[in-house]
Amino acid sequence: MITEQLLEVYQRLHDHFGPQHWWPGDTPFEVMVGAVLTQNTNWQNVEKAIDNLKGAGVLSLEAMSALPAGLLAEYIRPAGYYNIKAGRLRNLLQFINHNYDGDLDYFFAQSPPTLREELLSVKGIGPETADSIVLYAAGQPVFVVDAYTHRILSRHNIIDEEYGYYEIQELFMDNLAEDAALFNEYHALLVRAGKEYCKKSKPRCEQCPLDRL
Ligand code: SF4
Repeated sequence: MITEQLLEVYQRLHDHFGPQHWWPGDTPFEVMVGAVLTQNTNWQNVEKAIDNLKGAGVLSLEAMSALPAGLLAEYIRPAGYYNIKAGRLRNLLQFINHNYDGDLDYFFAQSPPTLREELLSVKGIGPETADSIVLYAAGQPVFVVDAYTHRILSRHNIIDEEYGYYEIQELFMDNLAEDAALFNEYHALLVRAGKEYCKKSKPRCEQCPLDRL
């Protein structure tokens, strides 16, 4: 029942919007950095910060690890909360350097539960950021939940309003095939639907592909 509902949501969104080609980024490292930078800001601001890092030739684990904190913060200033985010990035890089000898491929080759545990142990990395890195940078099957997921599913009574991050994640992971490509596309489609139709204050149900679901 839940499986059919979830697949119906997916199919309608996919038919309406088409493939979303997430996550934008040339390398897994860039995707990981983008996942940290996108906290509490829009993607346009993240792109400016990424462009600064690219322009300075420091968008690699080695080069960024060698950057002084103040300079890193300057490069990522457009993404907002730049001192905090620079600290988070440095914590993450330090963790990979210390525990995985700076080998990103080795780090990303850990099993999804191990990888997310490791990421969650880094100060400043929460569940959504950790799961975005596992799914979009490491290409491993874990479902990313965000406010749009919660809003859309609760408005359609697929979940209770008070469901938390892990309950929603479990719902997807227990009822859908463990498929990174599906999880990738599904999350991106929910974000698109949330931004365009399922707005917080005033949902635009009449135009939305999920109307009368
Ligand atoms: S806009 Fe309306 S139809 Fe679309 S997802 Fe939100 S509640 Fe559902």
